[in-house]
Amino acid sequence: MSKPYEVPDGIVDLVVVGAGPVGTSLAILATQRGFSTVLVDGRDPSAIPAMDTRTFAIVRGSWRLLGATGVHPLLEGVTEPLNGLEAVDGGSHAFGAPFVLFGNEDLPEDESGQPLGQMVPSADLQRGLDRITGETEGLVWLRGARFERLETGPASATVILQDDAKIETRLVAACDGVNSSVRQALGIGTEDHDYGKSVFAANVKLDTPHGGIARQLFMPEGPFATLPMPDNRANLAWYMKRGAAETIAAMPVEDIEAELNARFERFAGHMTIDGPVVAYPLKMKLARQMTAPRVALLGDAAHRINPLAGQGLNLGIKDVAALIDVMVESREVGLDHGAATALERYQQWRRFDATSVALFMDAIDRAFSNDNAVLKPLRGLALTAANRIGPLRRAMARQASADQTHLPSLMR
Ligand SMILES: Cc1cc2nc3c(=O)[nH]c(=O)nc-3n(C[C@H](O)[C@H](O)[C@H](O)COP(=O)(O)OP(=O)(O)OC[C@H]3O[C@@H](n4cnc5c(N)ncnc54)[C@H](O)[C@@H]3O)c2cc1C
Repeated sequence: MSKPYEVPDGIVDLVVVGAGPVGTSLAILATQRGFSTVLVDGRDPSAIPAMDTRTFAIVRGSWRLLGATGVHPLLEGVTEPLNGLEAVDGGSHAFGAPFVLFGNEDLPEDESGQPLGQMVPSADLQRGLDRITGETEGLVWLRGARFERLETGPASATVILQDDAKIETRLVAACDGVNSSVRQALGIGTEDHDYGKSVFAANVKLDTPHGGIARQLFMPEGPFATLPMPDNRANLAWYMKRGAAETIAAMPVEDIEAELNARFERFAGHMTIDGPVVAYPLKMKLARQMTAPRVALLGDAAHRINPLAGQGLNLGIKDVAALIDVMVESREVGLDHGAATALERYQQWRRFDATSVALFMDAIDRAFSNDNAVLKPLRGLALTAANRIGPLRRAMARQASADQTHLPSLMR
């Protein structure tokens, strides 16, 4: 039987393994910048995509990078501006006394009038990026091709696919998600933590206007968040013990609605389920290194973090922006973009940021997801300080929206 794809002859500049949002963005942007690129897409093109009820909070800097891929026009009508973030401590404060953590007013004005971020449904983002992948001239898209193993030489690496096809390349970008087979093939270990919780994610219709504000209620068992969507809908992220989220997700819709409203109507207004519901297990997995000879790890392959503050994909997008800068800068000075010096620069740029964000999310989870008598007043104090101190609010807004200095060029 003939193969469904053609593998290019000769050495290519880049092989991207994995065609999630991180891999497709990288493949598109690298091709646009003149790097010969092959995208190894392990999804079965004939299979119906798995149900995906996530909606991503894509912060301002990441939204700029996605704009460079050309995906913005394909997302018209499905995104919602994210104007601010409110938090309520369900453990120590009465419901209905929200702390405004930060909003658009805490950020420097953006020339194009962009807010803090955009809420983007995961399935729409993937569809949009897939379409641009297909339209990007020169990008070789191997659909239904799975990475199997890797052979590394001094000047190139050879990617071997499951059907034994081989592709020689200067650089391999592992964007193959949390259980990355590239990372495993290289024997790169991980730091793991299982939170023993799952996130129930679904869209709901709200009966009170959300005003583009993401709202988070911190309960001892974990947070409950409403993330704004068009037509006054919201994407829910409800953290529960492993098993509980899965049980609720399997209940009839009327029972889920009754449970939701009994517990959270005072916080979010009346909610009506709109679409499928899914429970996602919550785990942290950090690769001990983000590079190996001729290989860079990006996105969840390098760092799967607690989705508490919606930073996971944003970190992956920053990886893409940083790797593109490193590749372009290496080429400009006549260096090999897959050599150790280039990869070292990528790792130095990204590893500290990714690890510190992962550990910060972990600390927030531990501080808020309990009823500890000592921590309760402290976190009340922390929320009050965040609410009242202008410079702190501005610093948090800039950090959350990826609007700091020293950003890769595609995010500025
Ligand atoms: C409930 C929930 C809410 C979230 N909300 C947010 C949010 O608001 N904001 C945010 O920034 N992040 C959020 N995240 C995190 C975000 O979902 C991830 O960080 C992001 O999807 C990772 O993208 P990726 O491209 O790295 O990996 P993936 O999307 O996992 O893609 C990996 C790809 O690699 C492919 N692959 C795997 N093995 C192979 C192989 N051997 N050969 C070829 N291909 C292979 C897979 O088929 C897949 O297509 C959330 C996560 C969850 C669970």
